[in-house]
Amino acid sequence: MDSSRGRYFKPTRQCRLCRFALIFCIAGALRSADAATGFCISAPGSCWPSAARIRAWISTLSNSTTVYTPDAEPNIFLSEATAMNFLKSDFPGLIVVPGSEADLRSALYFASKTRIRVVVRCSGHDFNGRSSGRGVMLIKTERLNWTSYDASSQTISFGAGANHEIVYTALVPHNRMYVGGQSKTVCPAGCLAGGCHGLLSRQYGLGIDSILEIRFALFNGTIITLNRTRYADLFNAYLGAGQNSFGIAVSFKAQTYPAPPVIIMLDAEFVINSPFVTSGNLLTNFFLNTTWFNEMPRQLSGTINLDSGRARVKFVYTGTDYDDLSAKLAPLLASPFRSAVAEPQFFSNLAEMALNMYPAETEIWGRKYITSGFLPPDQDTLDSVASVIATTNPYMWLWFVFGGAVPEKAGIGSVPDGMRYAMYEVLFGTHWFNPNDDRLRVESLEPYLPLLYGISPTSYSNEFTSWGSYNDIQDWKTRFFSNYSNLLAVKKKYDPCNLITATYAVGSDEPVAICSCAPKSA
Ligand SMILES: Cc1cc2nc3c(=O)[nH]c(=O)nc-3n(C[C@H](O)[C@H](O)[C@H](O)COP(=O)(O)OP(=O)(O)OC[C@H]3O[C@@H](n4cnc5c(N)ncnc54)[C@H](O)[C@@H]3O)c2cc1C
Repeated sequence: MDSSRGRYFKPTRQCRLCRFALIFCIAGALRSADAATGFCISAPGSCWPSAARIRAWISTLSNSTTVYTPDAEPNIFLSEATAMNFLKSDFPGLIVVPGSEADLRSALYFASKTRIRVVVRCSGHDFNGRSSGRGVMLIKTERLNWTSYDASSQTISFGAGANHEIVYTALVPHNRMYVGGQSKTVCPAGCLAGGCHGLLSRQYGLGIDSILEIRFALFNGTIITLNRTRYADLFNAYLGAGQNSFGIAVSFKAQTYPAPPVIIMLDAEFVINSPFVTSGNLLTNFFLNTTWFNEMPRQLSGTINLDSGRARVKFVYTGTDYDDLSAKLAPLLASPFRSAVAEPQFFSNLAEMALNMYPAETEIWGRKYITSGFLPPDQDTLDSVASVIATTNPYMWLWFVFGGAVPEKAGIGSVPDGMRYAMYEVLFGTHWFNPNDDRLRVESLEPYLPLLYGISPTSYSNEFTSWGSYNDIQDWKTRFFSNYSNLLAVKKKYDPCNLITATYAVGSDEPVAICSCAPKSA
């Protein structure tokens, strides 16, 4: 039973209340709000609550929770405010690190009453700064990072503050695996909010396809449990379109899968064109050839980095039929395109593998721009992509994490069709360090962007940067999501005042904070 019962209002009643709230509070309440946003922000002249009121609320929280205010210890506040993606950091008005679900609910309730915008952050990786915000209440979920494995149902439950390393590691003693992203510091919470692909996706689908249940906090702290039949509209909306949009995920329950005794990683390098091959190139004959792709075992995944006429490939194999793998890869590895093949590396589990695949710190802290599209398994499209790559030699990444089980799970979540039916996700990107290079670096992608968007009408919302006003796409509602009008209806049902919002989030172009919509007392 939901522990919230009786304490907070349920969504239907909230909505009825909101209709009254809309009538009575818009004119008066918005008067003192930030003119640009409708929220109270921590700036002079705004309706931000007084220090005394904030202190009074903090005094109701448990010792497991920390609240940082900018005045107390500015240096600590600044460091707590800085996101992993530090270029996208902003200066919140209040930082809350809840140590319990009850305190998280209390924070949401306080924010909704005082019309403070809430921004939730797990790792802070978001490329569009959606886990930062000026003058907001920043809720950092890092302490809600518990895990619990249930052997009878072979499911794992974990708090929304757990990152992939924590979840993968928790499953190692049980010889099980969770379908998540590759990077250890990325959190399932944000990853699932966009769909989440990883090394196991060709075998088991996207990350969202294994989620069975979500405990979810609505804007005013009401907690509900979502699954495929209960609050299914919100369940599917979060899984693919949930970045700081409908409320805050508190915890997840997911199906797990048997772990292989060993995971193999093989690094190989190829040239795209070879003088010894007269018909086609590396891409048309292998990687962008649907027949070749479909013959590859589903347990094979990895990444292809294209740069200056070369392809650096990282194969990852999570299966156990090594003879089959050798036979399937032999034509490629024996082809004249092969330039180098390293000794295979062996990992005993996914956690170890994720640690190894972690990008260098310098890359994480560099200035970064990425944008993405999905390559469909359509040979004509793939041929034209291959010919452009072979002639222009762009720098890009292909992730062959799709195909296989991803389309089989269509109907779960709200990722765009392109993500479901893609053979690869393609990433165009660049990273650099000197701020003076910003404009040149971002503009260097211009020759490739029309190509990418031309072949791929959909992109991965989690791997897309809008740099200033650059790459400010107009078609985001169809590019990032499926059935946007349905998502908007879900948004209005569960967050009727539009209090939880973010860049390119569902409802983000609608008026925000149109009421505080909170009950009078907790
Ligand atoms: C180094 C690196 C590697 C990556 N690898 C992969 C990969 O292998 N596969 C893949 O699919 N993606 C990958 N990504 C993309 C990644 O999925 C996104 O950046 C994702 O948004 C990160 O989620 P987060 O929670 O870790 O980050 P955050 O920045 O903390 O959050 C991202 C978004 O989710 C929201 N959010 C966070 N927690 C909650 C919550 N509890 N409830 C509601 N909203 C919440 C935030 O407000 C924000 O809008 C990678 C990114 C990086 C930087």
